[in-house]
Amino acid sequence: MKIAILPGDGIGTEIVAEAVKVLEALDLKFEMEQALVGGAAYEAHGHPLPESTLNLAKQADAILFGAVGDWKYDKLDRPLRPEQAILGLRKNLGLFANFRPAICYEELVGASSLKPELVSGLDILIIRELTGDIYFGQPRGRRISPDGAFAGADEAFDTMRYTRPEVERIARVAFEAARKRSKRVTSVDKANVLETFQFWKDIVIEVHKDYPDVALDHMYVDNAAMQLVKEPKRFDVVVTGNMFGDILSDEASMLTGSIGMLPSASLNTQNQGLYEPSHGSAPDIAGKGIANPLATILSAAMMLRFSLNQTEAADRIEAAVKKVLAQGFRTADIYSPGTQKVSTAQMGQAVLKALA
Ligand code: NAD
Repeated sequence: MKIAILPGDGIGTEIVAEAVKVLEALDLKFEMEQALVGGAAYEAHGHPLPESTLNLAKQADAILFGAVGDWKYDKLDRPLRPEQAILGLRKNLGLFANFRPAICYEELVGASSLKPELVSGLDILIIRELTGDIYFGQPRGRRISPDGAFAGADEAFDTMRYTRPEVERIARVAFEAARKRSKRVTSVDKANVLETFQFWKDIVIEVHKDYPDVALDHMYVDNAAMQLVKEPKRFDVVVTGNMFGDILSDEASMLTGSIGMLPSASLNTQNQGLYEPSHGSAPDIAGKGIANPLATILSAAMMLRFSLNQTEAADRIEAAVKKVLAQGFRTADIYSPGTQKVSTAQMGQAVLKALA
């Protein structure tokens, strides 16, 4: 089992270090190899996703990724910005299905911005399509003004686009995932306004014929955004396109108290996957040793489950995380009076101890 470790920038290096210690403590035979990605790779090699990093990722069974980005790179040309590394990995590895569970741990119910009764017991799974939609559709661009400067452009455009195979395969992933949960899928679209999403809806209905045991309903994205804060527990599996999924999964993350708690997985058709916390590189707290490593540790658990077929080890990690929360350990983002505030490294140690 080969794992590519790509810590990236900002808090990425701090949180991935804790997750690696947890993996090492499992007594499983992993080969782990580390490489630079994002801003760190740009500094060293002049590119956010150097050939050597991409090759390592391609050869690995799974990738544990920290986060990339820093505001200091905002002025770079778009292809050289750290965030392009993640888009490049998704594209080159064909990672089309993004799993974002939003689970509200009982001990953190008070950290949610919603009333406890709305989030207590919350366990939803947002499945976002990753390779199509307006983020990749062609043509896109800015019409350059007569003097050739982008700054003077007077029109810009992106193309929203999905193909039949793209929608079919993500719909299947959602129905399969629902079969392992409570057998309910909500497909989120904007079929009332957008041709692309009428097409999406029609195909989801077609694919659903192969899954008669799973209940399917449809919701417009504006209503879904509202229902997520009004009555989040009405959802189980939510499947949606790239842009709506980007926005709704961040919204769902806040229901659980902190983005520092949420893992994610991006899978291709061979179950090779990239596993990363849902948050970014948090430059505002980088280097302070206060970032929450639990989202990354839980991402490592997802990696064991989905790509490495080590369900028992995944269960052990998840149980250890529940235990440290029950013991009252909290990083600053989830701290509340009466609990014990700990650093990134102390939280990692607490998980290791719980694991043992
Ligand atoms: P962010 O997720 O990095 O941070 C948002 C807020 O959440 C900040 O206040 C941060 O301190 C806090 N936060 C995030 N993770 C935390 C953790 N583990 N523990 C405690 N607090 C945490 O989003 P942003 O500030 O909008 O973006 C910062 C940089 O990250 C940008 O360059 C952005 O492009 C990049 N980014 C990268 C990814 C990725 O690598 N996949 C995803 C999102 C954003």
